[in-house]
Amino acid sequence: MNKKRKLFYLISSIIIISLSSFLFVAQKQLFGFNNSIEIKEIEINKEIPPLVDIEKRIEIKSGSTFGQLMTEAGLGASLANEIYYSCQDEYDLARISAGREIVLSYCPETEALKSLYYQINNDDELIMERNLETDSWKAKKQKIDYDVRIESKEAVINSSMYNAALSNNIDERAIVSLANAFQWTLDFSMDTQKGDEFKFIYEARYLNDEYVRPGKILAAKYINGENEYRIYYFEESQENKGYFNEEGNSVQKMFLRAPLEYKYISSGFTTGSRYIQAFNISTGHRAIDYAAPMGTPIRAVGDGTITYVGWRGNYGNFISIRHNGTYSTNYAHLSRFAVSRGQRVSQGDVIGYVGSTGLSTGPHLHYEMVKNGVKINPLTEVLPPGEAIKEENLDRFYEEISSWQEMLD
Ligand SMILES: [Zn+2]
Repeated sequence: MNKKRKLFYLISSIIIISLSSFLFVAQKQLFGFNNSIEIKEIEINKEIPPLVDIEKRIEIKSGSTFGQLMTEAGLGASLANEIYYSCQDEYDLARISAGREIVLSYCPETEALKSLYYQINNDDELIMERNLETDSWKAKKQKIDYDVRIESKEAVINSSMYNAALSNNIDERAIVSLANAFQWTLDFSMDTQKGDEFKFIYEARYLNDEYVRPGKILAAKYINGENEYRIYYFEESQENKGYFNEEGNSVQKMFLRAPLEYKYISSGFTTGSRYIQAFNISTGHRAIDYAAPMGTPIRAVGDGTITYVGWRGNYGNFISIRHNGTYSTNYAHLSRFAVSRGQRVSQGDVIGYVGSTGLSTGPHLHYEMVKNGVKINPLTEVLPPGEAIKEENLDRFYEEISSWQEMLD
């Protein structure tokens, strides 16, 4: 009996051990099976690539070159060169501007670079595509296909042009264009007064029903205290296009109203606060001082020749431009120069940058206008009107502006 019992236990143990070994192996196999399913799923995912191209957006920083940006983006030098040279006939990639971006698109399957996109300016775009079979690049420069809608905006100024735009839901970039259209007539950082009114008609650019950016300002009105100014965009010919007043005289004058561009001094300022010292014969300050951040570009107010670039006592870094036999303009306290002596400059060219050199308590531009050797107030100087539209084109001008005139009333 005892022996039989022992044998029973032995056999049971053998059976249990065998069974658990079998289960263990089976379990292992089961896990193994599961594992292979998971691997298969990953493989399936790899086989179906995402439908869209992989995009890499590269912001163009100031001072960086196309070559540098492409190297940073991980492109080899030979590929970057190939792109650069295949594009030469359409656009020079050495001219890319800071603040814009280059968009690289990669094939989602092979991760090969397949296209490059660059918006050249507000009107044109550059598209470069790679033929992956022949491994060659093709460049195409084209007009951006905006849907242009004519819209108008208006506002009354309580503190500044900029704040008026903000509180009336007006695109800040349209305000900068408006200031540029009036840049021979008004300086919105200084001339604006509380209660001034403006209205403008412009091309609002849409893509896929979404507003993208402002285009051209077609007509505008600005009521500055007692005075009302109206300007109209007109293309008399390929060479003569721009803004004209109601009589058909170009509003583009010999001098810009201000040596600093409105866009650099637009944000958050209140009426008149941008000029820290006015032209004042009794105090002897025969100049205008513009407060502006260090490094703000200074532009030549008119065409001319640089007659002085360098240090000049209390003026610090100083530039003088001779415009003609009558007028010259001076710019003082600069941080840097962008021109050399004897150089010809055109109206609007950057000649240097705002600084605080010489006798100066903070970054500002001291701006003087000299007429026949006497310092005069550039803000009250009456300049002859710009070129008029030719007699034979006046009818076309009046016809084109008539609907704008009504809209501005
Ligand atoms: Zn000054």
